[in-house]
Amino acid sequence: MTDETTELGECLSCRKRAGAYACVSCADAVCKPCSEKVSDPLFASLEAIPNEQVEGRFCGRCWDAEMAARLEAFQSTLEAAKQVFVFFTTQKKHIPLIRKSKTPVNVESCPDRDETILRLAYVAAKEEYNAVVDVEVTVKKVRAGGSNKTADWKGTGFPALVDGKKVDLQDSREQIYR
Ligand SMILES: [Zn+2]
Ligand SMILES: [Zn+2]
Repeated sequence: MTDETTELGECLSCRKRAGAYACVSCADAVCKPCSEKVSDPLFASLEAIPNEQVEGRFCGRCWDAEMAARLEAFQSTLEAAKQVFVFFTTQKKHIPLIRKSKTPVNVESCPDRDETILRLAYVAAKEEYNAVVDVEVTVKKVRAGGSNKTADWKGTGFPALVDGKKVDLQDSREQIYR
């Protein structure tokens, strides 16, 4: 049982320091050194981790059970995503297409162009495709309060399998991270 009005007491992991946080998963008291946090904003956004889990802290046991494997999978999918070929709708050259998904991927509310493309590539990599085709990226300028200028980027594309050996690397990759 947890009760927010109750003092957290000692950290239930080390039983040495005061438990400064309640684990976001099991609510056990945990001190800062014993806790784990979602520290990579890309992990949070690409895996759509709920806000309270991003802002809170996990005890070691819950982290190991719920997040550690997920973080590892994220890191390897991210590496694969960086190798994904991206073909924009404006691409005129032949694409050595083997197979194309019938379901388009849509991403929105992205902070910039690179992350929009990376998010499309990430979904493709996760589904074990090596390309995204018919990619379109658009931006809607949003005027935010204060001095922060934010932009709302959107992207769409179809995960696809292409013959990587036949892709002209320069053509397909140079457009991604310019
Ligand atoms: Zn501790
Ligand atoms: Zn926990």
